[in-house]
Amino acid sequence: MRMKNPSKFPRRLEAQVFRGFLLVILLVSGVFGFLSFNLERNRLDRTLESIELLLDAGVGQKTGSIANLMFFRNREGIALTLERFSAIKGILAAEVYEPDGSLSYSPLENPLTPRLDKSARAESGAVVGRMTVSRRPALSYTAPLIALGTNYGYLRVYYDLSEPIAQMESSAMLFAGFFVALILTSLAILRALTGRYVIRPISKLSSVMRRVAEGDLGAQADIRSNNEIGIMTEAFNAMSRENAVMYHQLEEINLSLEDQVLKRTKELKESQGLLESVLNASQDGIMVLKSVKKDDEIVDFQWLMMNPEAMAVFVDRVSSIVGTNILSRVPAIAQEEIFEDFRTVARTKAPVEKEIYFDLESIRGWYRFSIVAIDEGISVTFRNISERKLLELDLEKRAKLDGLTGIANRSFFEERLAGEWEKAGAERHSLAVIMIDVDYFKRFNDTYGHLAGDQCLRRCAEAFEKNAKRPLDLAARYGGEEFVILLPRTDRDGAALVADAIQRDIRDLAIPHSASDVGETLTVSMGIAVASPREAEAMASFIESADRALYQAKKQGRDRYCLSE
Ligand code: GH3
Ligand code: MG
Ligand code: MG
Repeated sequence: MRMKNPSKFPRRLEAQVFRGFLLVILLVSGVFGFLSFNLERNRLDRTLESIELLLDAGVGQKTGSIANLMFFRNREGIALTLERFSAIKGILAAEVYEPDGSLSYSPLENPLTPRLDKSARAESGAVVGRMTVSRRPALSYTAPLIALGTNYGYLRVYYDLSEPIAQMESSAMLFAGFFVALILTSLAILRALTGRYVIRPISKLSSVMRRVAEGDLGAQADIRSNNEIGIMTEAFNAMSRENAVMYHQLEEINLSLEDQVLKRTKELKESQGLLESVLNASQDGIMVLKSVKKDDEIVDFQWLMMNPEAMAVFVDRVSSIVGTNILSRVPAIAQEEIFEDFRTVARTKAPVEKEIYFDLESIRGWYRFSIVAIDEGISVTFRNISERKLLELDLEKRAKLDGLTGIANRSFFEERLAGEWEKAGAERHSLAVIMIDVDYFKRFNDTYGHLAGDQCLRRCAEAFEKNAKRPLDLAARYGGEEFVILLPRTDRDGAALVADAIQRDIRDLAIPHSASDVGETLTVSMGIAVASPREAEAMASFIESADRALYQAKKQGRDRYCLSE
């Protein structure tokens, strides 16, 4: 931090102090000058008053000695009177005129040459003219001398104010000069004192402050004074020392913090890089979802993070989906069991691990899901296990194959049916079975022999299995010449389509069956039952209804399928 024009600081303070003093001096000397001027003016006024009094005395005594003296030409008396005028300070001349205006008598040798103003004759004490004597105003007074009888004349007095005015002025000047000198002396003393005891210490202190501000922490001001400035300096020095100590402590803390931050950042970067490479290289889809709540109920999840593998599953094209909601991207997932698991884990914080078959547009196949609750959401790891699962299923199937036809046997069918039945209930999907029975097979055996019968059953089984197309579909030999097809996630229309295809394929096999009442070639009859999870139907009665539908098809003339009610 820098101070503005720091060198000007002491001078400015000084200037302020002296400006103040100068103002006071001017005011004081003005007041004193005015007072002394007034004193002198009063003296001048008094002089004028005494002149007027004298004039009044001389002129006003109309029958008094002056007039009479004049008119009786008593020149000594007149002279005496005029002499008295002349003795007054400021009177320049006093003259007596004849009534016709001619000068009658003047006591001065060289009288000023007055010009009589005849119109002023009648007035007593009137000022009849002004003139200037050595640049100062002089006045002439004219007064009539009223005499007894018809004879009268004029008395004219000149007086000059220059002397009293000059005196008055010089006295005022003297006063003012005296005060100016007095104040200048005290100013000089004051300046010396403030310089020594105020300005110098303050400027010293301020320069030390400046040093502190510029970074010289702990700088001390060497001012020994036992006044307030001394106290201020001591306080400043203590503060500066304390500042320096604190700064060094802070610097140390800062350095160690910086070190720690650098170290931690490096560690973090390393572990982040490691984590990222692990995530990116992972064969598993990994994603972090944040719960989206509405009225305290988890209604959706927002993608916070997902690795490329997870992105490949959920996003058909490369686009940023972080921050978007899972339901807005994959609305169909709302119907899936896994979505319910997401919610349960987020709510209960208990982890869930399970294998799930997906049949969505964006995700299809077997997946193993591992869901773990994290702060405000869940972390989901999943892996496509379709290959293994199919292998597993295949092995499972092989373990439970029918000896004659090579397709699943009845017990396998029943096991699978139990699992799918439960799942259909949980996932609210419909589930279909098709019961198939070869028409007039006893007659076939009787006509073509048991070996041909066996061969015929194998070809039929092949046709049934061909139509169990989807991974979860299952064709099984139920017993004798009866077969069953399990169609999970299939409704009536779907099951009917499969039945049509089977009928078509059996017809295409064109296995001769001359003993059949239906036609020349082998035919089958089918009964379809469809269960949906909303129906609290027992599994046994589900198969029974398929059986009933099959019986219906037989009764209606065979080579057809019937749908159970
Ligand atoms: P429907 O049209 O009413 O079904 O008449 P069907 O003759 O097919 O019915 P039925 O139940 O009377 O006869 C079934 C026959 O299937 C009896 C049995 O000899 C024959 N069969 C059962 N298992 C096998 C087998 O493994 N191999 C052979 N070749 N025939 C079998
Ligand atoms: Mg039968
Ligand atoms: Mg039969």
